This record gives sequence, structure tokens and C-alpha cells, in this order.
Amino acid sequence: MDTIFSKIISREVSADIVYEDDIALAFLDIAPVTEGHTLVIPKKWSRNFFDTDEATLQHLFLVAQKIARSLQTSLGAKGVNVQCNSEPEAGQTVFHFHIHLIPRFGDDALVLWPQGSYEKGRATELAQKIKAAIH
Ligand code: AMP
Repeated sequence: MDTIFSKIISREVSADIVYEDDIALAFLDIAPVTEGHTLVIPKKWSRNFFDTDEATLQHLFLVAQKIARSLQTSLGAKGVNVQCNSEPEAGQTVFHFHIHLIPRFGDDALVLWPQGSYEKGRATELAQKIKAAIH
């Protein structure tokens, strides 16, 4: 699957790379939410969080943690948002799995999602459905 990210892996497109190993590559997002916004991707293509294999996922999240810690020490991030947009309905625009690491500094403009509430019994019903479908 050819995407802008496979071109970054093959160096056909340049990027500001912060980390690389045999499985993972991480580079700065070209349109950062905050300074230091980093993307962690697998070198082996998968579409998103849904279809990425277990070993790759484990490795990528360990790399993501290392980079998140470096955002703390190198840039002074006070927090981080770790996000995987999966499918267009969730805002995915590049169909090569990636983990967003968005460092937070306490004075940025990012506002997260509005939250709602459940009608009585609805949360239990949903939890049962989700639980039954986990395998
Ligand atoms: P998503 O919307 O979750 O699929 O995220 C895709 C991200 O890739 C966006 O935040 C884009 O800004 C970023 N992006 C797209 N092209 C490039 C590029 N050439 N270099 C770095 N980041 C990119």
C-alpha cells in the first residue's frame, strides 16, 4: 500500500526523523497540533489500529513511550496525548497505521472531546455487548 508514509520510509519524501529501528520510524508531523507533535509508524504496512499485528503494536507503543518521555525531557512537555485515528469517521486521513504523540504544555489551544452521559441501564447494556464480542 503506497502512502505518503511509505515514501517517508523509503526516503522518497523527506521528514524530520526522530527515531528509527528495524520495525518503527518516528518523525515530526508536518502540521503540528503543538510543537514536537510526532508520528510513530510501523515500517510494515497496516491500515490502522484495527489490523496491526500484536508484535508490531507492542513494539510501537514501547517506542511511543520512549519518545513521549523524550518530549518531556527535551521540550519540557507537561503531558502528552497518545492517539490513533482509525478510519475516516475517526479522522484518519493517511491509511498507514500511526500513533500521534501530541506534547502538551499547559498553554496550548487543543480542546478535547465533549462528554455526555448515559440513560439508566444503557451503560450496562453496552458493556455486556462489548464484553461478549471481545476475543
Ligand atoms: P491522521 O489524520 O490521523 O490520518 O493523521 C495523519 C497525519 O499525517 C496528519 O496529522 C498530517 O499532518 C500528517 N502528515 C501528512 N503528510 C505528512 C508528511 N509528509 N510529513 C509529516 N506528516 C505528515
